Amino acid sequence: MPFLKQNILQDTKEEISKTDNIQYSDRMIGDLTGDHPGPTVIALAGIHGNEPTGIEAIRHIFENLETKKSEFHGRFIGLIGNIEALRERKRYIDEDMNRIWFTSILDKIRRTPIEEVKTAERRETKKLLEVIDPIVKEDSEHPVIFVDLHSFSAESGLFVISTRDGRNVELLAQLRVPIIFGIEKALHGTALKYIQNTGNIGFAFETGQHFTEFAEDNAKAGLMCLLVASGCILASEIDDFIRYYDYLNTQTEDLPHKVEFLYKHIIEPDDRFEMRPGFKNFDRVQKGDWLANDRHGKILAQRSGYILMPLYQQQGEDGFFIVEECE
Ligand SMILES: [Zn+2]
Repeated sequence: MPFLKQNILQDTKEEISKTDNIQYSDRMIGDLTGDHPGPTVIALAGIHGNEPTGIEAIRHIFENLETKKSEFHGRFIGLIGNIEALRERKRYIDEDMNRIWFTSILDKIRRTPIEEVKTAERRETKKLLEVIDPIVKEDSEHPVIFVDLHSFSAESGLFVISTRDGRNVELLAQLRVPIIFGIEKALHGTALKYIQNTGNIGFAFETGQHFTEFAEDNAKAGLMCLLVASGCILASEIDDFIRYYDYLNTQTEDLPHKVEFLYKHIIEPDDRFEMRPGFKNFDRVQKGDWLANDRHGKILAQRSGYILMPLYQQQGEDGFFIVEECE
């Protein structure tokens, strides 16, 4: 498969057929400990089962780093989230795995024997925590850097979702990918928020449309740039690092650098929400624009700004977000 194509945008509708053949037998995609001390970077992919592109991207990074142990600082771990849902290519089986990361729920999941855990996603979370818990510690000298890879149903765009924590902002600014602040106020029970609450660094990386090479390549380039920005490896040690860096810059040069959450449309059960066709990430909308329909009628933009993650799939409770540029 050609990776990191030099063209600016590929056909985002082109499905990656080989994702059908991905084996999900191992939750651990890779675990590389370098010969030098440094940060621990954990990349998680596929916490939503219809978002497998991050898995291929992580595999690519491990292949690239295979011979770099003696140059590597710290540890890089790649993990798969929701294996059962990935096999069915569905966002989730019983419940959204990225909305249950509340301390009390996780504690209950840890205490319950696996055969008594009620939902597929809680069983997956239990197995994931068995790997993550020994690594993610509070008050450790080197904070863990946790990146949760996602894709979305709309066309084009890429961005990271982060808190305003100074360490996050400093690190993410080096990636030059748009940073979305404040969404954590509207999304509860996410893995990134849980990690952030443990005093470590956590963010979500939304890399492109589901099942596309565009999303996969953005994830590859973003991860490679993250490892360099984190101090795990020098850019000069990566073959062709400039290609990753230039590629990422090309994808993001026309996008705003930092935006703040303004508004979220919540979908309730039986709303029959339907986004009007044609909206892409970072499209400008004006207050009053007709964005979607549900069984109650027209849904209009409540605020002016950029639209983000307009929902073009069946599963999911967030219809769209509106954000505005900020400092
Ligand atoms: Zn997702």
